[in-house]
Amino acid sequence: MASVTVTALKKKFGQTEVLKGVDVRVPEGHFAVLVGPSGCGKSTLLRLLAGLEEADTGKIELGDRDVTRLEPRDRNIAMVFQSYALYPHLTVRENLAFGLKLRKTDPAEINKQVERASEMLGLGALLDRLPKQLSGGQRQRVAMGRAIVRKADLYLYDEPLSNLDAALRAQVRVDIRKLHDELGATSVYVTHDQVEAMTLADVIFVLNKGQVEQSGPPLEIFDKPATRFVAAFLGSPA
Ligand code: ADP
Ligand code: MG
Repeated sequence: MASVTVTALKKKFGQTEVLKGVDVRVPEGHFAVLVGPSGCGKSTLLRLLAGLEEADTGKIELGDRDVTRLEPRDRNIAMVFQSYALYPHLTVRENLAFGLKLRKTDPAEINKQVERASEMLGLGALLDRLPKQLSGGQRQRVAMGRAIVRKADLYLYDEPLSNLDAALRAQVRVDIRKLHDELGATSVYVTHDQVEAMTLADVIFVLNKGQVEQSGPPLEIFDKPATRFVAAFLGSPA
């Protein structure tokens, strides 16, 4: 795992400045939540962290490594998207093993990592099933399993619960936080849901129109909103 330091990060798409100089610092082992309304630049920031988009200017560091210009494969980051992206014709075990097989990992090591991930996520009884034989929550758990079979320096989540119903959302939310604690991971989690942000985060970054309006522990932001935007956004759960 590693700390994350984002400094003065800017990104334009065409004429639109989507990130206008973003600063984010997440200490090693912390669970950070980026929260803000739709279109404020959350996914873009996450994609820049993952290396899926390139920054125009600014800097991204993992621990003491400057990764700003590195390709995704050289960053050692794992990402969980909101769509599950499981392979429908592969069993849960094969889905979990897929990325490790691609990397030509030794079969004994693959088994070990698949066992570890499935134990952490309670997937043991489901390993021989196909995705269509799983519930939504179970599928999301397999998607997380695919991210954690490989030890990463940083785990990124982009609205991973948005396809689940309310009851499942609450359950998987607890799972995600538990997983973070068990992995001893550093996590950055994107959501537009205020309740998710308040319950999951060690530290919250409130984004508005491509800028961080306020950052800090959930209670501090809740008790002492810095701007009217933050007060309105976090004070009135949707
Ligand atoms: P969020 O995840 O907070 O909803 P996004 O980061 O997805 O916001 O998008 C922020 C803004 O950038 C939006 O106005 C979106 O239309 C725009 N945008 C995102 N990706 C691209 C892209 N590849 N090309 C052009 N515009 C984009
Ligand atoms: Mg998004």
